[in-house]
Amino acid sequence: MKLSFFGAAGEVTGSCYLLEAGGARVLIDCGLFQGSAGDLVRNARALPFDPRSLDAMVVTHAHLDHTGRLPIVVREGFGGPVWSSRPTVPLTDLLLRDAAELQAADVRRRARARGERGCPPGRFCEPLFVEQDVARLVRQMRPVALEQDQRVAPGVSVRFVDSGHIIGSASVVVTANEGGRTARLVFSGDIGNPGTPILRDPIAPSIGPGGADVVVLESTYGDRDHKPIDATIDELVEVVSRAWAEGGKVLIPSFAVGRTQTLIYHFARLQEAGRLPNGLAVLVDTPLGIEATKLYEMDASFFDKESRALMREGHRPLRFPGLRMLRTGQESQVVNTMKGCAVVIAGAGMCTGGRIVHHLLHHLSDARTHVVIAGYQAHGTLGRRLVDREKFVRIMGQGVEVRAQVHTMGGFSAHGGQSVLVKWAQEVLGQCGDDAISAGAAVTGGSGAGAVRAQPRVMLTHGERGPRMALAGVLRERLGVACELPGYGAVVEV
Ligand SMILES: [Zn+2]
Repeated sequence: MKLSFFGAAGEVTGSCYLLEAGGARVLIDCGLFQGSAGDLVRNARALPFDPRSLDAMVVTHAHLDHTGRLPIVVREGFGGPVWSSRPTVPLTDLLLRDAAELQAADVRRRARARGERGCPPGRFCEPLFVEQDVARLVRQMRPVALEQDQRVAPGVSVRFVDSGHIIGSASVVVTANEGGRTARLVFSGDIGNPGTPILRDPIAPSIGPGGADVVVLESTYGDRDHKPIDATIDELVEVVSRAWAEGGKVLIPSFAVGRTQTLIYHFARLQEAGRLPNGLAVLVDTPLGIEATKLYEMDASFFDKESRALMREGHRPLRFPGLRMLRTGQESQVVNTMKGCAVVIAGAGMCTGGRIVHHLLHHLSDARTHVVIAGYQAHGTLGRRLVDREKFVRIMGQGVEVRAQVHTMGGFSAHGGQSVLVKWAQEVLGQCGDDAISAGAAVTGGSGAGAVRAQPRVMLTHGERGPRMALAGVLRERLGVACELPGYGAVVEV
């Protein structure tokens, strides 16, 4: 049996694992590389496997860094089933269609710019995929209930377990057979931040007799814990009441899936509790976020018990008086001329495009404006420049003086911090017998050659170098586990 790593190996994005067992070939996730300059090239590169040779694909959740290369796999000849949880199907459809549209617009812009310079069409004059590729992929998607064994290929079955990161997100337990031998592999997927509204807290999968042979664990925040949510909410309330008193806008750049719903939920509870100024308008100004919110509301069976209790009392967890969804561009422009305080939640999450950019252009030079940064901002983005307190920024070709007050709030993260990852690992490895978490072996880099290896093998992925090393250190220290840190293209014999 072989497991190959084709992404998220020493970085956060591009998740993609290929399992080969007893002649069956199953791909787990196939995401886009995102957030750095070379990504256009990496995403456009030929796939490192033959799509026609795959028996099945398995998707942990709908985020693009886990799904964004799936339409390419389908276009290149994969015609088999794509297994996921139920909410993942429409969310993947929504996000990939939006990505296809953005790529088409990018390609047009690049072609225009080259035309103006008198250059012939260059590299990247084709989008990675188009809407028809997405439609084909979605037709091949097969939803499966959580906690249910599903055969996906000869000798290979999978079970999805709630990972509490976005609606429908899952860890996956894979059982594979080869030559009369059975192996179990656990893929954590993205592990959520316990206490995130709407969602259940992440669950460490129960594996069954004998435990796991391989555990692939994410390490996004392997080096730190987040600020508690209650402190973050107090900070948000404080910012809103200052803006209300000053008559300024509160602008919150937000990711469409997950963060937008988290923010709506918190504003709804704050309003119920009388902690917001009377008559405050909360404007959700992201068409993608509005669609995603509808999809969140479609399947209450995935909600946590607090949200289900709210629904039993007749509330809708993501609706409240004062909430307004701005669908059209015209509705969005109203914000520019609106007098007084309002909260505006708008995409894109890192201010790299979308409607938030227009609001920033209009309001950053007003000292009464408050910008709340509620998510990760990559280097080189407008969001990052605001976090770094730059005094002048360029927006759509115009120089803007930043007189607005910028607040960074880390508590809204959709990823569990270090303690959450350690607890998850402890619960999974605790099922694998005493020697699983007591070997005390050295942490290995790359192949792991020469080091004592604990059983099961624990592989850390989906994290930058620092967080991944930090998590490996903590797991060795606390659980006595020797982690492996596979690089891109690493192949592991199971
Ligand atoms: Zn994710």
